[in-house]
Amino acid sequence: NLDIKLNEQSQDELGSLARAINDLVADLKRIQDSRREFFANIAHELRTPLTYIEGYVKLLAETRESEEQRRVIPILVDETKRLKGLVDDLFELAQLEEGKIALTLEWVDLSEIIETSIEKVKLYAANKGITIRLTEEDVPILLLDGNRIQQVLINLLDNAIRYTNQGMITVNLKSIPEFIAVKIEDTGIGIPEEELPFIFERFHRVEKSRSRNYGGTGLGLAIVKKLVEIQGGQIEVASQLDVGTSFTLKFPKPAEERIK
Ligand code: ADP
Repeated sequence: NLDIKLNEQSQDELGSLARAINDLVADLKRIQDSRREFFANIAHELRTPLTYIEGYVKLLAETRESEEQRRVIPILVDETKRLKGLVDDLFELAQLEEGKIALTLEWVDLSEIIETSIEKVKLYAANKGITIRLTEEDVPILLLDGNRIQQVLINLLDNAIRYTNQGMITVNLKSIPEFIAVKIEDTGIGIPEEELPFIFERFHRVEKSRSRNYGGTGLGLAIVKKLVEIQGGQIEVASQLDVGTSFTLKFPKPAEERIK
């Protein structure tokens, strides 16, 4: 009974193929889990000693005496601050990936949050000769974590300013079918098309030379994306090199519209 045998044989092959794939998937899952765990542990372990270093460096800065100390201590202070920023970002991203960030949901007026966020980055923008314009229409209030939304907006505005050498930033708030959308558009250096799929990945930075010129850690957008997604939102990017970039946040409209 050749036919049946072949059939069986083929099923065996499929079966062992499926087993092999399942094993592979299980292995991949284990690797992914241990990577995430490693990342979270590193972030956590770096934090405590760094907090001590930060404190003592600040103390040193108040008691400097010799010429050498006067020269070296400000560098220590700056670099410690930078390292602290990086470790804080690492820690926050790890917390987000572990699902350990608790949201404080409240009915928020996005227009107010946008205005406060713009107010906070205005000086930075003005120092670079960049103006920020807000165009908006009335939208319903949304159930979100106001502080976390502000963090997202400030991060995106901060990037828009950092990667723009001249021109303006436009923030637009509007209602589109099913969503409330906030678009932050700049007239900056733009992002090459082939880089767009990767910019929300942690540590992904466009070109090495850019990183040197503009600073930053490459963690900002990874954090932003997570923060938006855990609140039920989405983030999209569009960009053209040397023309500008826009990031759009979309939050689902509430089932029943509430009045501000
Ligand atoms: P970084 O700390 O490097 O700014 P982000 O995660 O915030 O890290 O951004 C990742 C990369 O995306 C940046 O290195 C930068 O090259 C690019 N990028 C982000 N926002 C903009 C923008 N508004 N205009 C141009 N490039 C941007």
